Amino acid sequence: MPSPMPEPVPVSIQSPASTSSPNAFSHWPRHRAGASLRIDLGAIADNYRLLRQKVGAGTTCAAVVKADAYGLGLAQVAPALERAGADHFYVAHLEEGIALRRHVAPTVRIFVLHGPLPETEEEFVAHGLTPVLNSMEQIAGWRALARRENRVLPAVIQLDTGMSRFGLSMSDVRTIADDATLLEGIDPCLIISHLACADTPDNPANAQQRAQLIRMAALLPPAPLALSASSGIFLGPDYHFDMVRPGAALYGIAPNETAPNPLRPVVKLSARILQIRDIAPGDGVGYGLTYRATRPRRIATIGAGYADGCLRQGAGHGAAWFGEIRLPILGRISMDSITIDITDVPEGQLAPDMGVDLLGPHHDVDAAARAAGTIGYEILTSLGHRYHRTYVAGG
Ligand SMILES: *Cc1c(COP(=O)(O)O)cnc(C)c1O
Repeated sequence: MPSPMPEPVPVSIQSPASTSSPNAFSHWPRHRAGASLRIDLGAIADNYRLLRQKVGAGTTCAAVVKADAYGLGLAQVAPALERAGADHFYVAHLEEGIALRRHVAPTVRIFVLHGPLPETEEEFVAHGLTPVLNSMEQIAGWRALARRENRVLPAVIQLDTGMSRFGLSMSDVRTIADDATLLEGIDPCLIISHLACADTPDNPANAQQRAQLIRMAALLPPAPLALSASSGIFLGPDYHFDMVRPGAALYGIAPNETAPNPLRPVVKLSARILQIRDIAPGDGVGYGLTYRATRPRRIATIGAGYADGCLRQGAGHGAAWFGEIRLPILGRISMDSITIDITDVPEGQLAPDMGVDLLGPHHDVDAAARAAGTIGYEILTSLGHRYHRTYVAGG
């Protein structure tokens, strides 16, 4: 079966010390890519430790690494999280679980959120994966495997407490409460649900879902409970239960807009300047000539485009940065390039082959998302595979 993970482009590992310079272009000559993505594994580890500390010792802090660790590279990110102390991981699909198993210790618990597709139950056992059972059909399939193998098999049970996406309904739970044989051979090691509105702390849906989880779980065999992903952790201890499962926060995305982001930024994306030119009033830029200069401008074309995850939608409000200087995007974003306004950069400071930041200290993932009318999750999971990737090691 083909691997779901594209093979990463060449990767190099730097020590944290070698990245101190804010505009370190020294590595550019060593690769041929149009842009360079630096992923700080130390920041991911710090974010994990901060979240774990926030929930306290009575709550397990799992780590969500679905979608290739939110686009940042499962093979590098999962071991870094394991070194930081994570020993419970979540992925979405069976394929992702199989891939993750190769990168973490056999004792690490891997939960697969979507549970088994029909006839895939054996593969969960073969790869040491624990399914999340979301429906009566998945429960029946898991029970049938337990019966065939004549043993008790652990599984997570997900309850739908109001999001209408995954999990057993209240009527499913009542059916199980009335017929204990439906769970025969299944050890419910954890009962989970998922919040729809955790990023808006004042939303009454949060408390309603929490109350519904408690009501529904009371009808099932006793098991540890879990409700919160990243944003839910910041709703307070009432939402921590026995386990939390952050993803986005590990990767630096703000848990909500109501408080400053306590997490460390993880990615820095620098694009190479391919060409610089001066344009005159009246000159147009890019497809459709949607930008027209009203006064003389110095512009640069840089080596990343929508094929690299620079969303076309971000053109109107987006920018690159050179140090403290904002460089607005001009006109439309092309597949492989973006044109930016570098008029404000003092003469001689930028030249072809130098880099400007698309994601960095002045423009984090959440800011890029706001400019493109989306969320940080989509920015990260859209990050392209043409970038030269550099991982900063961290303890
Ligand atoms: C993706 C996902 C998470 C992680 O969510 P974040 O908002 O990224 O922290 C947790 N639980 C479930 C069920 C998910 O689908």
